[in-house]
Amino acid sequence: AAPVRFEGVSKVFGKDVIAVDNIDLHVDAGSLVTLLGPSGCGKTTTLRMIAGLEMASSGRILIGDQDVTKLPATDRDVSMVFQSYALFPHMTVLENVKYGLTFSGFGKEEARARALHGLDLVGLKGFDNRLPSELSGGQQQRVAVARALVLEPQVLLFDEPLSNLDAKLRRQVREDIRAIQQNLGLTVIYVTHDQEEALAVSDQIVVMRNAAIAQIGTPRQLYDAPNDRFVADFIGEANLINCTIVAVEGDTATIDIDGYQHRLPARGLTQGPATLAVRPSRIVVGHGDGVAVRIAKATYVGVRMEYTLEGSFGQVFAVQDDVDDPLEIGAELRMSFAAKGPVLLPEA
Ligand code: ADP
Ligand code: MG
Repeated sequence: AAPVRFEGVSKVFGKDVIAVDNIDLHVDAGSLVTLLGPSGCGKTTTLRMIAGLEMASSGRILIGDQDVTKLPATDRDVSMVFQSYALFPHMTVLENVKYGLTFSGFGKEEARARALHGLDLVGLKGFDNRLPSELSGGQQQRVAVARALVLEPQVLLFDEPLSNLDAKLRRQVREDIRAIQQNLGLTVIYVTHDQEEALAVSDQIVVMRNAAIAQIGTPRQLYDAPNDRFVADFIGEANLINCTIVAVEGDTATIDIDGYQHRLPARGLTQGPATLAVRPSRIVVGHGDGVAVRIAKATYVGVRMEYTLEGSFGQVFAVQDDVDDPLEIGAELRMSFAAKGPVLLPEA
């Protein structure tokens, strides 16, 4: 497995479609990095430039020590798994997995042995003589993974590999992909628009927006300390509340919401209007100090209670683990925040 580096890489289609705008990125060898963002933000184009299926308009791409910017796809040691598994329907599972190996110059026996081993790795031992049509969607996707794996590429790319699977299978296959990646120490770059999938499988997440990188971090960093409203909103659920920074002392800001004051890290912001991002589980509701709120909605969903709170600031969504003693709709209470809870963001 090799690291991947992007240095100021851009891709322009035609005259003025900027699909990727001057991105810098480092992917450690043996890590799984996801490119996460809404449709059209440039994820697939970024992936295709690593594979050599698109050529960068400017900048440099390195795989290991090698500058591959101008290398054709066939000279790059990279495999890609597509959203539509792209299996050959008339070939057996084994033939599908062997296909690339034969082209890479492996002898018949060696190719067969490797393909069987690949099927073993993805949990499809004994399925070698079936046709793709005789497999479930999840099994077909695993064949596609096996076919890419057996080439033992320096870098393995996945473009929304789970989008054709139902929710339950998605969870299973994403866990399989992560386990294989970790067991074999592969460098994997994984594209998705599903934030939960990204949180679940990644070492690092690259959040993309409008052809550029909005933020890079571990799942926890992005969840706990998003840089702006876009990232806060895209990763997990966030309440975005308008507030005013009334004082800054050192690294600590004091904010005011409807007369309630709360101290938290200033994150470089200064006095004036700002945004507070708070996760639903980090809202505290009770009779103590806090912002005046009214319980507008209360929903029991089994594992927890979900509440909509209304105040002069607008509405927020809160969840609480206590399902046995729920808050009553219409109750007038006070909202405050758990210690590690809210994060200050620049004003929208
Ligand atoms: P994503 O995978 O994040 O949905 P893409 O990388 O596919 O986004 O596309 C990024 C932008 O580049 C979009 O505006 C898309 O329409 C445009 N684009 C992608 N491929 C081409 C192409 N071959 N020709 C012209 N425009 C393209
Ligand atoms: Mg795409």
